[in-house]
Amino acid sequence: MKIFLLFGVLLTWSNSAWAERRAKNVILLLADAGGIPTLHAASVHGYKATRKLFVQSMPYLGLSDTSTASQWVSDSAAGMTAIVTGVKTHNGVLSQDATAVRGKSDGVPLKTILEYAEERGLSTGIITSQPFFDATPAACYAQVNDRRATAKILEQFLKPRFGDGVDILVGAGRKQALAAVPDFLDRARQKYTLADSPTSLGDQKRVLAIVDGPFELSGVLQRTIDLLSKNRKGYFLMVEWDAHTDQIRAGLDRLLEFDRAIRQTAQRPDMKDTLLLFTADHSFDLRVVGGLKKDDLLSTPGAIKVDGSHSGEEVLVAAQGPGASQVRGYLDNTDLFRIMMKAFGWRVGP
Ligand SMILES: [Zn+2]
Repeated sequence: MKIFLLFGVLLTWSNSAWAERRAKNVILLLADAGGIPTLHAASVHGYKATRKLFVQSMPYLGLSDTSTASQWVSDSAAGMTAIVTGVKTHNGVLSQDATAVRGKSDGVPLKTILEYAEERGLSTGIITSQPFFDATPAACYAQVNDRRATAKILEQFLKPRFGDGVDILVGAGRKQALAAVPDFLDRARQKYTLADSPTSLGDQKRVLAIVDGPFELSGVLQRTIDLLSKNRKGYFLMVEWDAHTDQIRAGLDRLLEFDRAIRQTAQRPDMKDTLLLFTADHSFDLRVVGGLKKDDLLSTPGAIKVDGSHSGEEVLVAAQGPGASQVRGYLDNTDLFRIMMKAFGWRVGP
């Protein structure tokens, strides 16, 4: 009898442990301006069919509001602040609350999911097709009242509030960074190995690869995951890939590249304990308004309409891995922070 009771207790425990399985790692995959119309157009452009992107096949899907504390349409600063801190702020403000006045006065600084990870001894990484001090990546590690305050953002990158700051960083903006803080690389060299290119990260635990031109994501992403995986406590990685479609073909091609890299990542054998979370910080005013299925979308005059700006409707959230089942229905962008924290098994605290 006692043995059966014990067996029952063990069974119950193991079931609930499975149900509440925690994520060791979280990879936040952010298509900047990659709204649902852009995902749709990229699938048609790349595969001559709808719903062919990997992110459109992920097991858990939801829709996320992207409004800011004060506006219906978000920029990358307010959009990313909501996702990585769980608090809405105003456009232009990076990881400070809505008491901030852009360019004038500071709000309350907010702790980001990357900072929580640093504080707990996890490894952290950022990969971005954009300047690494641009709004989306900067919201992960800096708290400033104006996204254009490049020098301030770079100072905060060099003096992190928690842990030893971002461990692996791959991004653009080398010239602009040096224009804002001329000794940036010399000071960074005291804490990091500086890689010559994104494809030569070597075997370093802390490495910066800052370039001026574009680079290919796929190999860099896989190598970064290899390096971050060396930390037995786990890692947090944010990957931003630009999906603005001011130039339609270039924007859609970049989104296809991002999607292929996500597919490759999702198929790694070491992804079982990793939450993969794909979303956008805001949508973009692009629509497929014509075209025949037999024709090439971009060769059809007028088939795509772009009004060239951000738009306010909900964006896709797609997820797999531990914690992914929280992604369903209509969500707020601030919910994504709580979903990632919960997946790690962490409480929000000071
Ligand atoms: Zn954006």
